[in-house]
Amino acid sequence: MQKKIPMRKCVGCNEMKEKKELIRVLKTPEDEIILDTTGRANGRGAYICNNPECLKKAIKNRGLERSLKSHIPAEVSDRLQKELS
Ligand SMILES: [Zn+2]
Repeated sequence: MQKKIPMRKCVGCNEMKEKKELIRVLKTPEDEIILDTTGRANGRGAYICNNPECLKKAIKNRGLERSLKSHIPAEVSDRLQKELS
């Protein structure tokens, strides 16, 4: 039997990629937006490529806000941008 590779869609470039190639952006139950580096934290998540360009796109096209069902303030996107690069 073939092992199924978990695929997720990047909300920046909208490409399907292997889950392990993507970074999870997470809204915690405390309404904090963080990069989930463990992949295990609880909350609503969205996936982006390990690429600041995709984060930029995901913010610009509002894909990230839609996925997280949350407004993302500029200071949060700045922080994510820094963490990613
Ligand atoms: Zn991407």
